[in-house]
Amino acid sequence: LRHLVLVLGDQLDPEAAAFDGFDPAQDAVWMAEVEEESTHVPSSQPRIALFLAAMRHFARAQALRGRTVHYTRLMPHRDPAAPPDTLATQLARALARLRPRALVMTAPGEARVLAALRAQAQAAGLDLDVREDRHFLCSVRDFARHARSRRQLRLEWFYRELRQRYRVLMDPAPGDPDGPPTQPSGGRWNFDPENREAFPASGPPPVPVPPAFAPDAITREVLALVARRFGHHPGELASFAWPVTRGQALQALQAFIAQRLPDFGRWQDALWPDQPVLWHSQLSAALNLKLLHPAEVVAATEAAYRAGHAPLASVEGFIRQILGWREYVRGLYWTRMPAYGQLNALDAQEPLPAFYWTGQTPMACLADAIGQTLAHGYAHHIQRLMVTGLYALLLGVRPQAVHRWYLAVYVDAVEWVELPNTLGMSQHADGGVMASKPYIASGRYIERQSAGRLCAGCRYRPGERVGPQACPFTTLYWDFLMRHEARLAANPRTVMQVRNLARIAPAERQAIATQAQAWRERSRAEAAAGPWAEP
Ligand code: FAD
Ligand code: SF4
Repeated sequence: LRHLVLVLGDQLDPEAAAFDGFDPAQDAVWMAEVEEESTHVPSSQPRIALFLAAMRHFARAQALRGRTVHYTRLMPHRDPAAPPDTLATQLARALARLRPRALVMTAPGEARVLAALRAQAQAAGLDLDVREDRHFLCSVRDFARHARSRRQLRLEWFYRELRQRYRVLMDPAPGDPDGPPTQPSGGRWNFDPENREAFPASGPPPVPVPPAFAPDAITREVLALVARRFGHHPGELASFAWPVTRGQALQALQAFIAQRLPDFGRWQDALWPDQPVLWHSQLSAALNLKLLHPAEVVAATEAAYRAGHAPLASVEGFIRQILGWREYVRGLYWTRMPAYGQLNALDAQEPLPAFYWTGQTPMACLADAIGQTLAHGYAHHIQRLMVTGLYALLLGVRPQAVHRWYLAVYVDAVEWVELPNTLGMSQHADGGVMASKPYIASGRYIERQSAGRLCAGCRYRPGERVGPQACPFTTLYWDFLMRHEARLAANPRTVMQVRNLARIAPAERQAIATQAQAWRERSRAEAAAGPWAEP
């Protein structure tokens, strides 16, 4: 055997760089279902099922096109006497059996995995050729160059550079229709002011039904395996309907462009009970598993604008997520790890509340977001940032405990994208590298974004900061402002929020701090007794 091509669960593209020069006569593919990848964080059942189902479909397609695939499956029952399987131990076994002359892979999505595979290759005395991942529009090297050229990292500048480099939503200057595309379409780079409406009191217009992909025989076998072996893990399998093949991922893309893209921007930041998807695309998992390429998603989105099917504001808002944020967090991850993963700028030390693993809380907004997270392995961005993320930030949960949860529960969670979003954007643990301010708000924000509907079904009142009915978000928000007053006052983007503290009398400030402290103590006790507490 000449090359053994290592393919991980989030590298499911037969045209990936690892396959360049692949010769079916001399090379083979290696894939392994490994227990540790589902247990190093307590991975949710939908997340495990999606990865395994997509891997099995991919392996089958490779075998059908004549590539030899060495594939190890997880058994429905674990041998309690056996040590947990890891990628490294599985690979060691395969190397002893197959004796390849060299190893090839596409750059993985997690620093831990890269280190483990490098060490294993070295122990076996084999070259490991780690090739560029072409499923991104900006290489890590280009990102590092961009970062060096700026005093401060900011999404906006990075995003504009990529728009220009790839000529996305770029037009010729007015008066020079045949000239080069140097101007942002519509004359502006950013249409956020037109986007991000809250729903009216009457609620959302009819919400389009997203496509659902009924499990086929391969996926059903995986669902049975996961139920048997990981049935005690968080999450549920009953509604599993994720795309697990490239064909399905393309259908999901087309359905999004046709049905939801036109109103994506408008309702991007809105919340509504029992509506997990709204106008979001649900394409993150397919993108992260490499069933879709970001360039094709961006091209399809821009084409919808050029064809008059979707307004510019929505299209720009969506492209900003993929060409901007997605590429930006990936560059940040690979240029800052491993130190980035340990940051805790706000010195937050609380454990993750127990209800994050069960959804059982009287706080209606959290019960809604966590409940659907466990049911589907999905929540949209505003739920992740301004409900589950916000609560953990205000309570003062240790960022690494928050990271462990986000990496475990979402079907689209791969560390390169999850970790910067959690530590940087959501928990401000990097002190402002990724985002220029902590995203903090009281319960009033959640009330506004859901036109009051979430709070109407809740035991608490978003406008009250002390007393038995006080919304915990609101109490903890004011407590957060007091705890971090100096830092927030020094930041021009949060100074106004801190100034409002001056309007609160000392006695009420004291009452807020006391109530917040009692809440934290209760949460701590529940966490210690709850499921999946950190070891
Ligand atoms: P849409 O709202 O339809 O957005 C379109 C696409 O843009 C997404 O599919 C995604 O590929 C990309 N995108 C949007 N926002 C971001 C962002 N902030 N960073 C990177 N890409 C983005 N995204 C993941 O893919 N995996 C994660 O593990 C993950 N963890 C997150 C944790 C926290 C605390 C937060 C605040 C955000 C996280 N995100 C993560 C980003 C974002 O919330 C999800 O990409 C999005 O909710 C996925 O749903 P969608 O496909 O319907 O997205
Ligand atoms: Fe959430 Fe507070 Fe509103 Fe209840 S009152 S739904 S806890 S924001």
